[in-house]
Amino acid sequence: MKYSELHYERINVDEVKVIISDIVKRFSDAKSVKEQISSILELDKIGRDYASYSSIASLNFSRDIYNEKAKAEKDYYDSIGPDMEECFNSFEKVLDNSIFKNELADKWGIKYLKDVETSLKTFDPKIKEMLKRETDLRNEYTKLTAGAKIEFDGKEYNLAGLGPFHSDKSRDVRKRSYEARFNWFSQNSESLDAIYDKLVKLRHKIAVTLGYENFIELGYMRMGRNDYGPSQVANFRKQIVESVVPVVKKLHDKKKEILGLDYLYFYDGINFKDGDPKPKGTPEHLITEAQKMYHELSEETGEFFDIMVNEELMDLVNREGKRPGGFCTSFPSYDRPYIFSNFNGTDHDITVLTHEAGHAFQCYSSKDQPLMGYIWPTMEAAEIHSMSMEFFTWPWMDRFFKEDTSKFKYKHISGSLSFLPYGACVDHFQHWVYENPDATPRERNQKWLDFESIYLPDRDYHDIEFPSTGGIWQGQLHIYQMPFYYIDYTLAQTCAFQFWMKSQTDNQKAWADYVLLCKAGGSLTFTDLVELAGLELPFNDGCLAKVVDYVSNWLDGVDANAL
Ligand SMILES: [Zn+2]
Repeated sequence: MKYSELHYERINVDEVKVIISDIVKRFSDAKSVKEQISSILELDKIGRDYASYSSIASLNFSRDIYNEKAKAEKDYYDSIGPDMEECFNSFEKVLDNSIFKNELADKWGIKYLKDVETSLKTFDPKIKEMLKRETDLRNEYTKLTAGAKIEFDGKEYNLAGLGPFHSDKSRDVRKRSYEARFNWFSQNSESLDAIYDKLVKLRHKIAVTLGYENFIELGYMRMGRNDYGPSQVANFRKQIVESVVPVVKKLHDKKKEILGLDYLYFYDGINFKDGDPKPKGTPEHLITEAQKMYHELSEETGEFFDIMVNEELMDLVNREGKRPGGFCTSFPSYDRPYIFSNFNGTDHDITVLTHEAGHAFQCYSSKDQPLMGYIWPTMEAAEIHSMSMEFFTWPWMDRFFKEDTSKFKYKHISGSLSFLPYGACVDHFQHWVYENPDATPRERNQKWLDFESIYLPDRDYHDIEFPSTGGIWQGQLHIYQMPFYYIDYTLAQTCAFQFWMKSQTDNQKAWADYVLLCKAGGSLTFTDLVELAGLELPFNDGCLAKVVDYVSNWLDGVDANAL
């Protein structure tokens, strides 16, 4: 079935309430674990339908933000979110009190029950109205940023459309395109600050209402993290400062040589004098090549990608009215993922075909998991699938980049490594924000600059005012949309690098471990998934240093000047 043929409807909350309260009653009265299992599966079916319809509604809106009908459907699903959460919460409460917990753990593993416990700690009917308000504020951010219309050299662009100019080979174009971008942010900074200010205070209030000191603990639980906390994350950030920041400094100096510049400003983000590698060919051609590639990579990826193409489960090219960014979503009732992105003619387009496809491949591989909650793992584990796929597809990169393949690989590795300090900076900033919910926008910006000086000491915005005064984080949508979702990329990158290292010595074993990890979906915690995949846990002291050592040796071995 094609995406456009998938059944969609509005769920009627009142009807669902009645059905779920009946399931709750039968579950509580159950005399055997068998009866409870069948209740759980009934509820799982409702959860799948709800998740599928709300994903479709949200996706259709992302594809066409000016479509009133699509907006109305998304608004509907946004508006019922907290009520639906209340329904599921009522079931989780009785589940948590089940006298058959041991038997249930035997059937599905302890993770399922732990997830329920965690979920219970994130909700109470008394925060329902605040959750609705939080969704509204998130949507305000999307609306504002997605609707950006920026004039540049006589043409109008959205934020994603302006992206390619930031890595133009002309320094003047790069600088002016950033100025255009930051002018837009500067003009909208008051609105962006107001949205964030309200979000932070609201999240703090939700946390306090639920009995927490501040939002941090709640934020971690919302991310489903039940195997580590802020102290492990702080220790990991510290390792990034110690092991990665000095190597990134070296890369920075090397880049000066490559670009033939005495000094690098923020807008000198390109990697090569004659420009960054670009994919060769039209979007259609790239997708056809990707399809061939996935067939050659493995039987399972070939089958998967055929489905993505044949069932029209991808919307990849940037156009006006599309929400910026890229993501992978899914429709659990139909066992299908979907990839959304904004192709813009840069190497980012290929990363979509590998990164987002990695997410989608994992989701597809987990279709036999018995429970909806086991399809997707927590995000730091999910990003392993996507980032590792970027590496497993390396042998085919010449199909996309032709003579620029070595440039792409150098950029890929150096970029992935250089990303780690930025990721830690975003994470540290958010911890500070939620520890200090009363800080003013100006204080937040100042704090951002303080963190930049730790994690990104070489950054210099030159005479561009907006980022120089600390506002650049406003463009990082995770900070608004999904608090604490960011360190995930750095943890996952540390794991993906390990897969890359392994693939150089024993590709077959590395791929087998990867497929095993994808099939496990969310049936285990991050810690257990990393172990299952035969990788070392990034939190372990020395793990990152070892990885960085290998990666920087590889980079040292590349004569980037000659590429
Ligand atoms: Zn991702």
